[in-house]
Amino acid sequence: MLTSTLLPATITPAATLIDQHGRPLEYVRLAVTDRCNLRCFYCMPEQGIQYMPKNELLSYEEMLRLVGLLAGLGVRKVRLTGGEPFVRRDLVPFMERLAALPGIDDLSLTTNGVLTAPHVPALARMGVKAVNLSLDTLDRERFFQITRRDELPRVMETFHALLEAGIQVKINAVVMDGRNIEDLVPLATLSRDLPVDVRFIEEMPFNGGSHVATPASLPWHHGRIRQHLENHFGALAPVATEAGATASEYRIAGHRGTVGIIAAYSRTFCGTCNRLRLTAEGGIKTCLYDQGVLDVRALLRGGASDADVVEALANAFRYRAANGFEAESQRPLHQLNFESMATIGG
Ligand code: SAM
Ligand code: SF4
Repeated sequence: MLTSTLLPATITPAATLIDQHGRPLEYVRLAVTDRCNLRCFYCMPEQGIQYMPKNELLSYEEMLRLVGLLAGLGVRKVRLTGGEPFVRRDLVPFMERLAALPGIDDLSLTTNGVLTAPHVPALARMGVKAVNLSLDTLDRERFFQITRRDELPRVMETFHALLEAGIQVKINAVVMDGRNIEDLVPLATLSRDLPVDVRFIEEMPFNGGSHVATPASLPWHHGRIRQHLENHFGALAPVATEAGATASEYRIAGHRGTVGIIAAYSRTFCGTCNRLRLTAEGGIKTCLYDQGVLDVRALLRGGASDADVVEALANAFRYRAANGFEAESQRPLHQLNFESMATIGG
């Protein structure tokens, strides 16, 4: 529980659930909507997006029930994502209720920052300690080319508001061949004077058909990103990370903050994966690369008891694939780029 009182203490956190590969369940990511006010090239097509009918998204009450049950299985960390979380109405009161759930001691969100700045004081008040802010370039024209919207000034306003509120900022920058390579050094340079963590993410193929699937030999894989940074800054010194982290973290000599590299396509971190995902479609994914392993919306809306939902969640987690390659090979439909990250939540 982050702050006090809004929900009664009905759930007693139980022993952590361990999957068949020895990994604990500690973390859930909720895609609270698939709607978005940007159109990032790597995430969705510019036009023709079919959003989910609103009544097919889980209601806040349904998500609170789900997270309460997951807390009983050991989940203590919740991240809201989407789509853009702040395009869903009444997000802040929902977050306050999540923050008050017994067992949940780490609540955070991933946002594109366009609508976020006015809510930063509320985030600070409810105990949010870190926010992931997506920012692929500091150049306004390239921001427009990548996101198809001219919103860099509002994103930067959020960036500064978060820093002023003392909320840790983790910048998420997707590395795109031919689109923002010239931005890697300027973005990493933010960590020189500011206490930020600038994380570079390998581009994954989940772009909703925006462009052809990422090639098997990714042009900007984690090793090349690191080399590119080292060519400019000198050796990157590895920094210890918490268990389950997806980013390899480094410090550049003389910098206040850190830089990270997330090998999301190379999938180097599966051995310590501690999470599951609720998609905007009401599905549970136990791996980014699976096609959804449980229709939890059908269970919640079909009158399932708490015990039934818990059993279904526990079984889904217990028997999950060893890694993202195995999960991908088990998909009935293999084309990953039919899915959009806005549905999965990143
Ligand atoms: N709209 C919010 C945002 O952009 O921060 C939250 C949802 S977004 C899907 C979550 C994260 O996924 C963002 O940091 C985004 O950069 C990342 N992402 C989206 N599509 C991606 C892709 N194809 N490859 C790698 N990362 C991706
Ligand atoms: Fe929207 Fe985030 Fe996808 Fe960009 S990455 S289109 S901001 S959901």
